[in-house]
Amino acid sequence: MFCKNCGNQIGDSDAFCSKCGAANNAQTLSNQQNEQKQENPVWGILAIVFGALGGSTLGLVFSIVGLCIYKTPENKQKAWIGLGLTIAWMVIATVLLIIWFPAIVEWINQHIPAEV
Ligand SMILES: [Zn+2]
Repeated sequence: MFCKNCGNQIGDSDAFCSKCGAANNAQTLSNQQNEQKQENPVWGILAIVFGALGGSTLGLVFSIVGLCIYKTPENKQKAWIGLGLTIAWMVIATVLLIIWFPAIVEWINQHIPAEV
């Protein structure tokens, strides 16, 4: 490729033109992409782990932090999956509680003697 500033032929991997010293834009761009790829995926992974374990508050916290700080689609997707798992478990737990609540009350009434 050629330097945009002076037209001198430069290598694709050169950060600067060897003749005029102008920054190689292609190199700068790929550096930015590399920085984004190096984005720490730990929040997204923790969100998925805790989300999958059962809709804990931690799953919610990690996924929301991930959504706030991540810029790369890969990591944002992890955070969304974590959030989805967390909410899915919360919905399931709520539904099960509603369904089983009368049975639980009945079980308690049968197994715990009323006060005399
Ligand atoms: Zn140049």
